[in-house]
Amino acid sequence: MTFDADVGVVGLGAMGSMTAWRLAKRGVSVLGWDRLAPGHDQSASGGESRIFRTAYKEGPAYVPLLIKSRHLWNELEADTGTLLLNLIGAISMAQEDSDYMRNVIASCRNFDLDHEILSASQVRERYPVHTLDPGEVAVLDRWAGYVRPDRANMVAARQAESLGATLHRYTPIRDIEFSQHGATVYSDTQEWRVRKLVLTAGPWTRRLLPGSELNHKLVRIVLAWYRTENDTLFQPDVFPIFMRLSGGLDFCGWPMINGDSVKLGRNGSHGVFEDPDKLNRNVESAWFIRWRRMIRDYLPGIIPDPVRVGAYMDSWTPSGNAVVDLHPDCSNLVTLYGFSGHGYKLSPIFGEIAARLALEEKVEQDISIFRSPALGPFDAIPNETMVP
Ligand SMILES: Cc1cc2nc3c(=O)[nH]c(=O)nc-3n(C[C@H](O)[C@H](O)[C@H](O)COP(=O)(O)OP(=O)(O)OC[C@H]3O[C@@H](n4cnc5c(N)ncnc54)[C@H](O)[C@@H]3O)c2cc1C
Repeated sequence: MTFDADVGVVGLGAMGSMTAWRLAKRGVSVLGWDRLAPGHDQSASGGESRIFRTAYKEGPAYVPLLIKSRHLWNELEADTGTLLLNLIGAISMAQEDSDYMRNVIASCRNFDLDHEILSASQVRERYPVHTLDPGEVAVLDRWAGYVRPDRANMVAARQAESLGATLHRYTPIRDIEFSQHGATVYSDTQEWRVRKLVLTAGPWTRRLLPGSELNHKLVRIVLAWYRTENDTLFQPDVFPIFMRLSGGLDFCGWPMINGDSVKLGRNGSHGVFEDPDKLNRNVESAWFIRWRRMIRDYLPGIIPDPVRVGAYMDSWTPSGNAVVDLHPDCSNLVTLYGFSGHGYKLSPIFGEIAARLALEEKVEQDISIFRSPALGPFDAIPNETMVP
């Protein structure tokens, strides 16, 4: 049997573009396909910016991967001469005795992260927009900031191409067949044979593996951009990214990285659905009426009527941990899905792990929490509608 490449990568979003880069950097022959083109915003990579943070509220088990991921972001920056990771810092705010804060502080202490624990008065003095509630503390994570996914996905894909990968843009893959020796990938007009396949189709993963036991759901996530009363208070050098669990609200925000508005998000689902082509992109005004309370109570100086809103999607697993693994029934297939709203920052290390799995190389990191299938009930997906 003849092959067109050693490894094929279907889907060139966050995970696929990084996987293609890591493979091409090893000198492996790579083919890749995307239904659109790396850098587009119609997938789980849409929405202008992504938070990178190391003090991890989801648990300190992630920290070694986050540290490695940061090094790989820096490697891609050095290889391409492009700034990708803007380390402007991030503050987490929550009750001191919450799991959220315990995880943030354990991440910092167990791994000696560059951080500072701030009292209410220190927060008020340094970041006058924020006021802590009684019992809350803030942690400033200096190894945190943001990435522009449109830029980063495109840069990783183009770097893969400059190292020899062949990437097919505007080429939807309609079917994949696996044999003992490899995989055959079909578009409407062409077919290719590869020894190993990495499937990184994000929300569309299930469609390319019908009948397979993939335990993930699509979750709609709403973001909104707001103007402010005084832009100088919201610039990146004085207003870091923040994550906050206060008054029953789980929310986050970005400074004015785009020059004229701040972006806010509320963690949790804004609707669970099945078909990635049927994402409801119309955002109902009810959301923003609810979000006014959050702005009134916690974000003075932000004008509470959004100037831009958007609905996006990601695939979610019951545990919130992604699947990054060889498919249990097919040794020629590596699947990556279910990044559950927090996978972007880890895309370089997940790309590296996917490359190693495809090439049957040893994976240095402990990836036991990313084994497939991620079983369990879905009632744990937090729903933002639960809080006013
Ligand atoms: C609104 C929002 C905010 C988020 N915020 C953060 C954050 O701040 N920090 C963080 O770390 N993570 C965050 N995440 C999570 C993170 O962005 C996603 O987990 C990540 O982008 C998923 O990457 P992916 O490669 O799996 O999917 P995608 O980036 O969606 O890539 C999948 C690609 O596959 C292609 N494709 C699909 N089907 C086919 C086909 N048949 N043929 C060819 N190509 C195909 C698509 O066109 C797409 O390019 C957020 C997610 C969302 C939605």
